[in-house]
Amino acid sequence: PELSESELFELSDRWVTHNYNPLKVVIASGEGAVLTDVNGKEYLDFLASYSASNFGHGHPEIVSAMETQLRKVALTSRAYHHDQLAPFAEKLATLVGKDMVLPMNTGVEAVESAIKVARKWGYVVKGVPAGMANIIVADGNFHGRTTTVVSFSDDEAAREGFGPFTPGFKSVPFGDAAALEAAIDENTVAVLIEPIQGEAGVVIPPEKYLVRVREITSEHNVLFIADEIQSGLGRTGKTLAMQHVGVEPDLYLLGKALGGGVMPVSAVVGNRDVLGVLKPGEHGSTFGGNPLGAAVGSTVVDLLNTGEYQERAAALGVVLERELRKLIGSGVLAVRVRGLWAGIDIDPALASGREVCEHLMLKGVLAKDTHGSTVRFSPPLVISETQLLYGIEQLRAILLEL
Ligand code: PLP
Repeated sequence: PELSESELFELSDRWVTHNYNPLKVVIASGEGAVLTDVNGKEYLDFLASYSASNFGHGHPEIVSAMETQLRKVALTSRAYHHDQLAPFAEKLATLVGKDMVLPMNTGVEAVESAIKVARKWGYVVKGVPAGMANIIVADGNFHGRTTTVVSFSDDEAAREGFGPFTPGFKSVPFGDAAALEAAIDENTVAVLIEPIQGEAGVVIPPEKYLVRVREITSEHNVLFIADEIQSGLGRTGKTLAMQHVGVEPDLYLLGKALGGGVMPVSAVVGNRDVLGVLKPGEHGSTFGGNPLGAAVGSTVVDLLNTGEYQERAAALGVVLERELRKLIGSGVLAVRVRGLWAGIDIDPALASGREVCEHLMLKGVLAKDTHGSTVRFSPPLVISETQLLYGIEQLRAILLEL
């Protein structure tokens, strides 16, 4: 017999660690921008698995690529070559204009890998004395949950109780190029930033910031690592958020949507002069670059090469911004929008972000709060304009009722 919603809540409470506080809904299936719960109620997905489901749930080409590959071979480890990885790497590197790809699985693994690559590059190429390399990050960053990565977070909930932390990081205010330059010393090997800070609430830096970061890092022989794990692959209306400002970092970190919403696939993408520092035995992952993930990743690149998803995000982003701006003064303090990605600051006197998301859920829209009173909208890029407007209308209605 199938388990009821309340039984599933109880089982979850009993058997699953409580490191998340999910909305009280149990999803059973999904298609495009629609999720259906165990009771058969439909919801619009306004989160898209934190941008991992950019192409929507059950995208036919992604599902078909995965099914086909699953029947051939799913995993070989990198002990052997297989026929999916090299073509995927060529396609992905070409998509972002770089030489080579280091394949991993989750986003934070790409971040960890880039930290290792940058340190190695610092010692081998830049000539930093052994054990002295430092990396500059930005306040408010979110790059994942490993011990090293939370070492340079300023979110106390992410750090408290998890020390001792990894040394070798300095954090400076996001958007402040002068502070970043002042923090650089002769042992700085890299600057690691999100071009738009997602978890911080879709924080878009001042217009010339990323351009200045590129100039400064080039001047000081420091690598520029752009974490596009959430911002990349169509979300902002372009393939990469960096393309909005015409800036090329040394390393791109990609993840989430790279796995088409069906597999964990991440990558560090860069040029040979940097990624070439890794030699056999120095880094790896049993699942990194596996045939199933590579087949899915190749399909994702094919989808992005049509330009269709970026165009949709750009066009619908105009609608999203226009409609959200109308809510400023009616319970909304500020909105920040880039493509189909919005941070909406709710008036904290009215409700918390969490409360707004709970109300949205009751109205059939699933979204996620970040940090107190901010609600993030990041629907699948396949969402229709009608669906998008419906979701925004529910937010408007809630703010009126509160
Ligand atoms: N970097 C950024 C910018 C992210 O938004 C995230 C996840 O939210 C990560 C890294 C970590 O990715 P994962 O959860 O797949 O490890």
